[in-house]
Amino acid sequence: MKIVLFDIDGTLIKAGGAGARGLNKAVKEMCGVDKICDKFSLQGATDKENFAVAFKHACGKKPTVKQFRELELKYLGFLPAEVKRSLKSGNYSKLNGVEKLLVMLSKRKDVMVGLGTGNLKEGALVKLEPSGFNKYFAFGGYGCDSHIRSKVLMKAVERAEKLLKAKIRPADVYVVGDTHLDVAAAKDAGYHSAAVLDGFGDERLVSRSGAELIVRNFGDLYPWLIWLGLEKDSKGVRRGTYICPDSPIEHAHYGRTGMDVKDIDDGILALREMKRKAVGE
Ligand SMILES: [Mg+2]
Repeated sequence: MKIVLFDIDGTLIKAGGAGARGLNKAVKEMCGVDKICDKFSLQGATDKENFAVAFKHACGKKPTVKQFRELELKYLGFLPAEVKRSLKSGNYSKLNGVEKLLVMLSKRKDVMVGLGTGNLKEGALVKLEPSGFNKYFAFGGYGCDSHIRSKVLMKAVERAEKLLKAKIRPADVYVVGDTHLDVAAAKDAGYHSAAVLDGFGDERLVSRSGAELIVRNFGDLYPWLIWLGLEKDSKGVRRGTYICPDSPIEHAHYGRTGMDVKDIDDGILALREMKRKAVGE
């Protein structure tokens, strides 16, 4: 059984800033500071991280447990109206082609589709509601499970195991996201990783994240099916080191070495660190 975990914001849908507006309003009610989310990047972090950062920016101190819960509840209170506002203004959209992929995967007996998102569970449902995508996801890992993204993914897999009543190997888990942090979390957990460039991620960081597959969106499903091992790759590049080809040379290189740019970067950093220690700097 293969498990495919989807991030929400920038991967399945774009909610037109509904989350940020909801958090802005919640923080304003609690700390009196307006538009706090303009002051930092929300992308790729879990809701819990974002809430803590927003509160600290606005109120000058960390929230207590009680304040944190209050902030969450206020956010969840504002979110449905903000999602509706995005819908009305035409700023709510589904990523190109993703629905086709979800339909295709949900029909297969050898694939289970879940969420791997930094959103609080309730927030995730609210954000996905207008897309009609909630029906595809029987389980997930959410921002309320942990503020560490790799743990969120692992929790999703744990829930899939419960549904299946069987163990799932990390090599059978595929994570789809839109930021380098999604990719890093997948790697930390030992899962496969793919990223879309049409989301909210920084294109340069995503390109260097070492994701096995990096493509614009889901417009062409072929590379996705190859990555998932559901179609044979006619070019003969091993899956797991597959990078959507920029050039035949890259194909040959990655196919041969099994290394990706991130591994090479990490290796260079480790060597520099060793050298620095050796000369006593
Ligand atoms: Mg995202």
